[in-house]
Amino acid sequence: MDKPCVFDFAAHQRLEFGDDLLSDFPDFLLDLFDHAADAADQAVDEVVAHSKEFSVSINALLGQPDELYCQACGMPLKKDDDIAHEPDGSFNEKYCRWCWVDGKYVGAATVEEMIEVCLPHMGWPDQDAARAFLQKQLPQLEHWRT
Ligand SMILES: [Zn+2]
Repeated sequence: MDKPCVFDFAAHQRLEFGDDLLSDFPDFLLDLFDHAADAADQAVDEVVAHSKEFSVSINALLGQPDELYCQACGMPLKKDDDIAHEPDGSFNEKYCRWCWVDGKYVGAATVEEMIEVCLPHMGWPDQDAARAFLQKQLPQLEHWRT
């Protein structure tokens, strides 16, 4: 799993100042950047470990900074119960628990099929409006863009 929100402080500084300018930085400052990057990585590792240990999503651990949506069906992932799990027990915050099971995607094969799967669950009285909404929104989700 990719580490979320890895903040590489040194890389960030290089981006901001460029390599030329960075080579003029005193060593203690470069060490400080490296240290900050290590500390950030360590903090991320801890959050990932806590998520698995306590079965709480990373998003919830961080105070829910993101409004998560399943990146295949668009379902809002408001509760940790709705979020998919990997076989090792960790969360997969990209999918809902219906689209991602036992470490693989099990949802509809095409966006058109997914729209038909989603329609009855939306509870919109106007089916045409619901379909138009899904036709606009679903293709923008990560699963269908890749
Ligand atoms: Zn889903």
